[in-house]
Amino acid sequence: MKDDHGLVWLGTPAFPQAARTALADTRLRANLKRATTTIRDKRLEAVAELDDWEQLRDAGAALKTRTLRHLDHHLERLEASVTAAGGTVHWAADATEANRIVADLVHAAGEREVVKVKSMATQEIGLNEALAEAGITAYETDLAELIVQLGDDRPSHILVPAIHRSRAEIREIFEREMGRWGRPAPDGLGDDPRALADAARLHLREKFLRAKVAVSGANFACADTGTVVVVESEGNGRMCLTLPATLITVMGIEKVVPTFADLEVFLQLLPRSSTGERMNPYTSMWTGTTPGDGPRDFHLVLLDNGRTATLRDTVGRQALACIRCSACLNVCPVYERTGGHAYGSVYPGPIGAVLTPQLVGAQHAASLPFASTLCGACYDACPVKINIPEVLAHLRAEVVEAKARDRRLPTPEALAMKAAAAVLASPGRLAAAQRAAALGGRLLARNGRIGRLPGPLRGWTDSRDTPQPPAETFRTWWRNNRKQP
Ligand code: SF4
Repeated sequence: MKDDHGLVWLGTPAFPQAARTALADTRLRANLKRATTTIRDKRLEAVAELDDWEQLRDAGAALKTRTLRHLDHHLERLEASVTAAGGTVHWAADATEANRIVADLVHAAGEREVVKVKSMATQEIGLNEALAEAGITAYETDLAELIVQLGDDRPSHILVPAIHRSRAEIREIFEREMGRWGRPAPDGLGDDPRALADAARLHLREKFLRAKVAVSGANFACADTGTVVVVESEGNGRMCLTLPATLITVMGIEKVVPTFADLEVFLQLLPRSSTGERMNPYTSMWTGTTPGDGPRDFHLVLLDNGRTATLRDTVGRQALACIRCSACLNVCPVYERTGGHAYGSVYPGPIGAVLTPQLVGAQHAASLPFASTLCGACYDACPVKINIPEVLAHLRAEVVEAKARDRRLPTPEALAMKAAAAVLASPGRLAAAQRAAALGGRLLARNGRIGRLPGPLRGWTDSRDTPQPPAETFRTWWRNNRKQP
């Protein structure tokens, strides 16, 4: 199924088409609705407990804005701190370079397999596939990532990659696939969460005890101390971060924070926004290497992969402030109905719709800025106040302008907008257009509603019914009823 490397899934249809297929999948919609509603409610409760939630959001947003403004400075400080603490820092301009660095490090350790902590950055660069090409097997250890890996599937949510799967489906995947990757699923496996988690634990235990190299992402890295932070819910990540002799962390350059004290803000914002918890069950921090404790060799790969280009756009750069909590996905009406696969990218939902086109270039993900109703629910939920609707509108303009540059003839949309501008500029023309539209609407309506229309109006009417316009326009009503005596 996977023919892709990296951030966007090559060969998948553009969002409008993929969304249509997803909408027809009633089981997917039911799974998504159940999961997002639960997480949404939990988040609201956890946020309501804090009187200073808005101040915390402001602090998070301000810290991110300031850090991004001087990113080069903070990254150089981070490099110096990690090096002083016994780690090694590598700079990767793109996915190919990052993958090569990791594969070389695994080979240098004399190994052919690695255990992995859940990481968006490594998904973004297609690390598992690149390692497989280099003869190295990567084992996912996060439960949801394990389900995705065993099912030869793709993640559909930032935090809960297997959100689209029901428990029955997960049981079936475990029974069918676990034996091919290591310890098989126990006989008579049930589909209650505890049984599934126990099966995963037994399956993973032998991987933890055998692996000499682990690969992780990072939620944050502190420039002043060189401390790297991973937050997770299951404790499997902690096993990866402490047991193997070599630890390789791949981190997007935007994850740096200036000081260790800044974590105070983010470690309150993140768990409440993501899982609706007061704090993460497992927060692992490490600073370089420590003799006799944890990995003996630590490598930090700092990944650019389009981030510097994104930083140049003063409106779009706010997407780099994202702390990957996934709150915007869980409140998005479009995501709730289409799921993550429709976005065709490792980063789905509202943040994916603004991050993906910037990281890969708008021409490679031109439909994503339009995969939104601009309702603003994502902006309200975002713990670091990223104005996603603003960035969406900004990127839409870019896509439209790029299309206009590439075409000799104007698009039907452009012609329609020009005509609309001419009509709206003149009260007389507007009144005439309203009369014509009311008359046309009444002629086309059946049983009080206008259904499917042919030609250019088809795209709008295919999925919507419009009420029949009243016989009298508002202007006429106003003139007849509010005449000056
Ligand atoms: S954009 Fe905001 S709400 Fe969405 S994942 Fe990022 S931090 Fe969370």
